[in-house]
Amino acid sequence: MALKIAKSFMRRNDLVKLFYQDGKQLLQSKTYVLTVSTNRSTFFGTYARKQNNLKFGKQILCNRFYSVKTAEESDAEYYKEHNITIVGEDIPSPFKDIDNSYFPEYIKQFLDAQGFTKPTVIQAQGWPIAISGKNFVGIAQTGTGKTLAYLLPAVIQLKEKEGRKGRGPRVLILAPTRELARQIEEVAKEFQKLFNLRCLCIYGGVSRIPQMEALKNGVDILIATPGRLNDFLDSKVTNLSRCGYVVLDEADRMLDMGFEPQIRKALEDVPLERQILMFSATWPKEVQYLAKDYLGEFVQVNVGSTELSANHNIKQHIHVCEQEEKMAKFKSIMHEMSGEGFGKVLVFTNTKRFVDSLTLTLKRNGWPAVGIHGDKSQQQRDVTINKFRSGSTNVLVATDVAARGLDVDGVTHVINYDFPNTSEDYIHRIGRTGRLQNKGVAHTILTTEDARQARSLIAVLKEANQEIPKELEDLARDYRSMKISDKQPRYSPKKPTWATKKWNNFRSDRYSRY
Ligand code: AMP
Repeated sequence: MALKIAKSFMRRNDLVKLFYQDGKQLLQSKTYVLTVSTNRSTFFGTYARKQNNLKFGKQILCNRFYSVKTAEESDAEYYKEHNITIVGEDIPSPFKDIDNSYFPEYIKQFLDAQGFTKPTVIQAQGWPIAISGKNFVGIAQTGTGKTLAYLLPAVIQLKEKEGRKGRGPRVLILAPTRELARQIEEVAKEFQKLFNLRCLCIYGGVSRIPQMEALKNGVDILIATPGRLNDFLDSKVTNLSRCGYVVLDEADRMLDMGFEPQIRKALEDVPLERQILMFSATWPKEVQYLAKDYLGEFVQVNVGSTELSANHNIKQHIHVCEQEEKMAKFKSIMHEMSGEGFGKVLVFTNTKRFVDSLTLTLKRNGWPAVGIHGDKSQQQRDVTINKFRSGSTNVLVATDVAARGLDVDGVTHVINYDFPNTSEDYIHRIGRTGRLQNKGVAHTILTTEDARQARSLIAVLKEANQEIPKELEDLARDYRSMKISDKQPRYSPKKPTWATKKWNNFRSDRYSRY
């Protein structure tokens, strides 16, 4: 009773956990609540276990279930080699190889069966942090192996720790898009078979009924888009009272998409004794606030710079032309690529309407293409992605619904028919190729309409040691001098003439997104 009253008066960050340390493996710990608002600390609890080696640490409540070696000086070389920056206390030493990791045997066997011989960088540092029970923020590029970075510790937690009774999920993974959620589900399904865990993926755009039935039957790992999760929480179909492990995948993207209220609502429903892992490609203020509010203490791992940068395995080609020359330029890129040979090509445009029109144009010109955008039904989107994944068609035209998280093997080329709204989106789009250690090629068409983006694009190219065409520099310079001269309040692109009308059929309406 006293405990309940005390809890209701305290802020989240006032809660600390008392944990016992017993050599390597920690004992099942008892949770106490300690107020730290005054100098005097007050314990509330049913009993205090007396132990000689009792230690306590101030720590946001979390599920500490494995003890791992703390990072030492010899790890500095690894951090330097992989350009890793770490912020936090008691940082566990990275698992540089799988054999010598603290993983249980069944996990090692799983990785072996997958043919994964070495952890990726985010896994090497993320795994020991996650299995030691700490809250974690990972800032890493797409395609770096982050799904397994958070799923393996989740599986260990499910296998080794007894959960509370109930039907709600014990592990919750929030993802911004249906595509990413489905992709995570694919990986999680592997564990379903192997370890007898129940996985479920819920997302909007499809009927709620089958998802509702499945939720009512009980679930261990729930992968959800924030909107649909909120819907089920509000209607009390499920609850998060058993949830001890939460992952926010592509947190920056979720906030960009306006899901902050839904995320906060879900996190409020998760018990305080939980662990949160947050992955983000960028580290903007909004993401920092979210981490501060819900993670309390955490270890942050930046792989590469916190400034978003393009994957250096991608050769970036920039083509500057007039609006009316765009289609001709695009076709010449396609012809050139066909001559050299390509695996799979992902073509991005900015609008749904133009996805359909470009798909048709490609088909008419002998490239069997498929298109995907937000107006297609979930079933159509699944069929399209599967066709592209299986290679039965190797040209996919898409809006930004496919810009992030889409993990399809063998994408050798990305073409930006339209330049995206921001250079961050550009980096995500081209990041669909060159995944892991593969090489990739990106072609991007820019016109004077994209002049305002030229400067930031130059910065991205410079960082990745790519060639900067003179036309792009001119575009950036002209735009700058135009702004300085301040003669024109707004930049206005060239008016179409009779000669351009033909191409305007292909022009995308930049303001109707996805
Ligand atoms: P993700 O960033 O989670 O989308 O992963 C990108 C790709 O990397 C997926 O196709 C994974 O199967 C693959 N992958 C994940 N971990 C490893 C690893 N340790 N070694 C090689 N490939 C991996």
